[in-house]
Amino acid sequence: MTTLHKINQPAVALAVGTVLKYIDEDSAREGLWNTPDRVAEMYGELFAGVGKDPADEIDAIFSEGVTQDPVVIRDIPFYSMCEHHLLPFFGSASLVYVPRRHIAGISKIARALDTAARRLQVQERLTAQWADAVMRRVYPMAVVCRIEAEHLCMSMRGISKPGHKVVTTAIRAIDYTDGYSRREILALLAD
Ligand SMILES: [Zn+2]
Repeated sequence: MTTLHKINQPAVALAVGTVLKYIDEDSAREGLWNTPDRVAEMYGELFAGVGKDPADEIDAIFSEGVTQDPVVIRDIPFYSMCEHHLLPFFGSASLVYVPRRHIAGISKIARALDTAARRLQVQERLTAQWADAVMRRVYPMAVVCRIEAEHLCMSMRGISKPGHKVVTTAIRAIDYTDGYSRREILALLAD
């Protein structure tokens, strides 16, 4: 088990107040009075996955004997925060796994995604952490995770390309399935 990490909200509020002071010409105005506290509280929510192991969310595992029929979970919406710019990236996540002997509670797989997303992230690592969590807890023959996201740091600043999609894939242990080929499993996640 991992120890629970909580962000220091008073310290974060103080720091946000300092940022406001240096970016706004009138940071004492009424509209900003409670902004530092609101942002600190919001960060508590957005970064609730810090210090947690996404695999711990997958705590409902069921024996299904010998089954190797793929399970596909598609289009799970998610929000995360780019660690380079502190701006959101968001989109949809899909996963296919080929059970070995166990299946997982479907909502638990979505919870593992959320835990991995609620921290300072990059999309590549988020995809890998999600796949690894499923691999460690469900121990399937194969798992493939695919995440499509728009990054606000690419949409509203810098190169300014709203509507783009970044697609990342994490593939684990796919060589060991005997019922389905690599191509067939990947096709289950294709549009
Ligand atoms: Zn970024």
